[in-house]
Amino acid sequence: MNAWRAKVPLGDGEDLVSFCRRMAIVSGSPTLGGFLTDIGTTMLQVVHGTDDAVRIAAEFGQADVDRLRAATVMRVLGDSAHARGYRFNGHPVAQGHVERSVMRFCPLCLAEDQARWPNLHEAAPFIRGEWQLKWMRACPVHAVALVADGKWPAIGQDFGSLAENVVPLPPSGMETYLRHRATAKPTSGSEWLEGLHLNSIADFCESVGLIVKMEHEVAADKVKVRKLSIYSLSPAERHAAGDMGWQILSQGPEMLKHLVERFTAMACARGGIMKPGGILGPLNFYLSMRPNDKALQGIRDMIRTVIAASTPINPSTQIFGVKVDASSMTSLHVMAKATGMHYKRLGKLLILGGAISHGERVFRVDERTNALVREIAETMSLKQAGVYINASRVQMVLLVRSGILQASAVGGDGRNAERSFAKRDLDEFLARLTKDQKMIKGGVGTMAQSGLATIPFAARKARCSAVDIVRLIFEGRICIATDQDDYGYMSVYVSPADIRGILYGSRTGLSLHEVAKQRGWGENFVTFLVNESFLAFEVVENPITRLKQRMVKPESLREFDEKYILIDEFIGQFRRHHVDVRKEISRLGVKPVRDSGIGSRIYERSNGAGWAAIKIRALLDYEASRAQHN
Ligand SMILES: [Zn+2]
Repeated sequence: MNAWRAKVPLGDGEDLVSFCRRMAIVSGSPTLGGFLTDIGTTMLQVVHGTDDAVRIAAEFGQADVDRLRAATVMRVLGDSAHARGYRFNGHPVAQGHVERSVMRFCPLCLAEDQARWPNLHEAAPFIRGEWQLKWMRACPVHAVALVADGKWPAIGQDFGSLAENVVPLPPSGMETYLRHRATAKPTSGSEWLEGLHLNSIADFCESVGLIVKMEHEVAADKVKVRKLSIYSLSPAERHAAGDMGWQILSQGPEMLKHLVERFTAMACARGGIMKPGGILGPLNFYLSMRPNDKALQGIRDMIRTVIAASTPINPSTQIFGVKVDASSMTSLHVMAKATGMHYKRLGKLLILGGAISHGERVFRVDERTNALVREIAETMSLKQAGVYINASRVQMVLLVRSGILQASAVGGDGRNAERSFAKRDLDEFLARLTKDQKMIKGGVGTMAQSGLATIPFAARKARCSAVDIVRLIFEGRICIATDQDDYGYMSVYVSPADIRGILYGSRTGLSLHEVAKQRGWGENFVTFLVNESFLAFEVVENPITRLKQRMVKPESLREFDEKYILIDEFIGQFRRHHVDVRKEISRLGVKPVRDSGIGSRIYERSNGAGWAAIKIRALLDYEASRAQHN
């Protein structure tokens, strides 16, 4: 055995596997396994880095056993799954943080090893133990990225060609700190992280760094923070995230608190129901996945306090396994869910009641707010009811006067007459209003294109009252559509054309207004004719509006024409001023039906003699005027 005792210097930071590999090469052993058997250990012992294997290898290689042990990643085979993992220089390291399938190394370090010990040839380059820790991504000596290549553990590998394509990568602040911790050198500040395990710090830095890096995108709502994960990052991105996170965490817990506060504020601005994962994404995941890590307890408590105090977290929500008791903050969404009210409607009511200001989505619950919400949940004033069903004051008054909306009497002292709309009644009103609807997809634009209008606007267009339209809807005589972007009364759209058809479609007569328009008469004159019974009319009650209206049938107008003649016709024939005409007619002994006023325009046709005389007189007059001109 002594004959081929290997003479290999133990490298600085070299691990057990590398040391054994180099000794095997120098000894001329064809396999690593064969060499290990010869020196009294096994491949499994060396790969696991057991104390026995370290001792045997150090003894055989005449190396410092403590140095070798400190650089070797050692397997810990505990009884429970939780206890299993690795140790590096006494520090626990999780299984996922140790690379055990490929070699990771710095090509420049290996090239230097070869230059230092040229006579060792392939046995010159050695593998540093810390390179197999996944959060070490850069060589601290050369500031280049570690390369992952070749099988681990390997023997007789030629590393020479790998020095060609190196990628510059300065070690991150996090890496420097972890290296200091791992090698038990004095740390670079951040005492508050001393209690955390090395691999906890790596994930912590990377999680914090990732959300800091994406802060602008999260604020702009371009990225959902809960969808971020450090596990979907490339090694270079994780390296950058670790560096960024370290810049925050190395400044102490206050900086982390500021960060958490910024993210809770962003979540509040976005609105919606809040959950810790939706606020802090990967940071929440990191903290939730290590429930047994007592060192994180203080951080978890701090985050729970910040979230509970500044966001409307649902009281039943658990943050890191601890229930948040009655939160003092709430949001419209949370409260709307609790009261079964539309959040827009609730928001308007709370603004009206002065509990919140415009645009405020998250607010502190005090006694006043609670009282207001309780009140709204039971009865509402006219103003509140108007907001609740989304109808203007004018519309509310119309609906109340018509009896469609009834104020449920409370107290009966009359003093509080305004505060008397029951939420139940208002809900029922809206339910009746929107019972038979045909869905129209699209917003207000599509409604207008389809010739639909809101109830108040349709009332103006169809010349009726909004109340008439509501009654038609209740009777199921017209269809409605609802605007999905709005709510309540103003979201109901109806067709003014349909309403006009129902209200006025069946009648045959003309209104007085229409008679005046058709004949070119003044409306006063038509009213006179009707009032004085010159023109026959009938009173028609509109079946919908219940309004009484005087209507003139076409045959009544014909009868009037047969019986009477107006002075306007004489003027046409005499071609004189109406005063002269009137004098002429009077001279012929024909009298109007009335001596003065509007009645002086009307003559009876049945006065045949007078009529003939006028005709003759007119003819003569005409002849005379022609003669004069000639
Ligand atoms: Zn290097």
